[in-house]
Amino acid sequence: MAKRLSLDDFRAANTTRRFCMLSPFLRGLGAEDRRVAVAAINDPAIQAVAIMRVLRRVGYVLSDQVITNHRRGACKECAASGLLKPKVKEGRDR
Ligand SMILES: [Zn+2]
Repeated sequence: MAKRLSLDDFRAANTTRRFCMLSPFLRGLGAEDRRVAVAAINDPAIQAVAIMRVLRRVGYVLSDQVITNHRRGACKECAASGLLKPKVKEGRDR
């Protein structure tokens, strides 16, 4: 029987799942919706599964694992882009 498995195949499969599920979603939102979504993701009192449910209700299907990973800072893409950092208004907080 011919050899079918190659270590290169495993290596290739290992790195293809690199794209971020969350950033295209956030980028597609309007500025106000994005602000709210980022605030929810940054709020530890809101469960990841709750965020998943609310987003699903408005038509965005994301797994709660995606949100959990982002909360851990596991997504290098979002960490590098600063997409999930709340916009801090300087000196304007009441
Ligand atoms: Zn991301």
